[in-house]
Amino acid sequence: MKLPNYLCGEWTEGAGPGEPLVDPATGDELARISSQGLDIAGALEFSRAHGGPVLRQLSYTQRADLLAKMGEVLSANRDEYFRISLLNLGATKADASFDVDGAIYTVKYYAKIGRALAEGRMLKEGAVAPLSKTGVFSGQHFLVPTQGVAIFINAFNFPAWGFCEKAAPALLSGVPVLVKPASPTAWLAHKMVEDIVNANILPPGAVSLVCGSARELLDHVREEDIVSFTGSADTAARIRSNANVLRRSVRVNIEADSINSAILGPGCAPGSDLFGLLVKEALKELTLKAGQKCTTIRRIFVPRQNLKAFSEAVSAQLRSMKVGNARNSEVNVGPVVNKAQQAACLEGLNKLKAECAVVFGGNENFPLVDADPQKSAFVQPTLLACENGLAAKNVHDVEVFGPVATLVAYDNVQDLVAMTRRGRGSLVASVFSNDSNFLQQVVLGMADLHGRIVAVDSSVGAQHTGHGNVVPSCLHGGPGRAGGGEELAGLRALLLYHRRFVVQGPASTLDGLSALSADTNLIYS
Ligand code: NAP
Repeated sequence: MKLPNYLCGEWTEGAGPGEPLVDPATGDELARISSQGLDIAGALEFSRAHGGPVLRQLSYTQRADLLAKMGEVLSANRDEYFRISLLNLGATKADASFDVDGAIYTVKYYAKIGRALAEGRMLKEGAVAPLSKTGVFSGQHFLVPTQGVAIFINAFNFPAWGFCEKAAPALLSGVPVLVKPASPTAWLAHKMVEDIVNANILPPGAVSLVCGSARELLDHVREEDIVSFTGSADTAARIRSNANVLRRSVRVNIEADSINSAILGPGCAPGSDLFGLLVKEALKELTLKAGQKCTTIRRIFVPRQNLKAFSEAVSAQLRSMKVGNARNSEVNVGPVVNKAQQAACLEGLNKLKAECAVVFGGNENFPLVDADPQKSAFVQPTLLACENGLAAKNVHDVEVFGPVATLVAYDNVQDLVAMTRRGRGSLVASVFSNDSNFLQQVVLGMADLHGRIVAVDSSVGAQHTGHGNVVPSCLHGGPGRAGGGEELAGLRALLLYHRRFVVQGPASTLDGLSALSADTNLIYS
């Protein structure tokens, strides 16, 4: 089976034998993909000429209605997405739910909140700026949907959510989308696009799909397009420095690697509620999606006197975790996505081992449920410990994109903040403490280098949304190494797909444009 691409409102098979998609638990080939010989420039032009204009004729509410229909179609096919997640990602039910249900929830969320913008066609920002003595000439800022295409180059770990969390705000903005899922796991995004196309919800050119490497994609982007990339920092640097992207000042949003931190505050002794909550969170983060989440906790900072107790508590739980083929319902931890990722994880793990003690796991050979280690791509859940985090380098620098985390001892809040900052910009940090002074010091010390901070005290307890869980109402993204991008955050996400401009003119002109606009205040409410 070679999965076709969807361009110019038609399914088109790429040339050549294509690249295989593989089941990471069995090594079996599932399908093939190819982007060879596709007319990508023509497809982008088709979207700009056909998809965009039809979408932009609709109001925000009408586009929100389209998203609602998409949400219904995706919900109706949820079981099939779980099946593909199992085959192509080795996903347990919990892993599949995180991606698939997260995707569906996000589409429905934007369908719901998009209605607040009502019949607007663009956005009016701020008050009128007087520019003349009598007030006959003044300025008004607006934001208008771009007339280009939103191009999504996505990572392998969230084929469903990665597509939907970007497509929902773009389509709500009136901007057509072209998604290029990561090659190894393209099947799930392919199926979702196929279902949306078959349901005939969107106008031709509103959604396009390229499965395969498509390395020349960026050579065809133009000034009005937007590139939204998720993946490794190395590829991000290549995307940013693409000559065509630079020459045309194409807007680029990047979500990349992140060495995320979780912090146990002082005074959270073993047996306390917060100690228990962070143990639970660390376990979830290590095992869910086999640690292949951009937001996964990579470093767990604990007061030095709690290091041993914390490592024992997490290890005790890890001991009961079964790793293997998720077709067996006893399995808690699935594989990483393929042999190449397994090799990358083991290489990164060796770098961490050079500076850290192995507390749990760390073996290349370990017991697997219903899987052949030669054919599959598993990594043993591994907990490491670092006594001297200030002197360590790799702990703050090497992202092992798998079920691996490092405990780091700290002695005071200054050292703690300094170490979190050595991640050089992260997506998320979580702080578990009842000490409000400590919480404030930590938040203020690291906020400029973190996109999201989760603060948990006893009053919040288990009601927090989770360290690794990205909720569509809150910002996803982080500065520096994490890419500097911003996604979600409710209707703020629409800003990426709109362009700000100001009109300086008479009141009649400004009033006419204002009548077409929803107020940007709604975006921040
Ligand atoms: P990757 O190797 O950087 O690939 C990401 C995407 O870029 C894939 O679709 C890939 O296509 C494409 N690509 C690679 N080189 C390209 C080029 N020269 N021009 C255009 N496209 C190119 O990353 P990955 O291995 O899929 O994902 C893992 C990484 O993503 C992790 O480091 C993780 O931290 C990060 N991540 C971040 C977030 C976030 O929201 N911040 C979320 C998930 C993952 P092919 O697959 O066809 O090569």
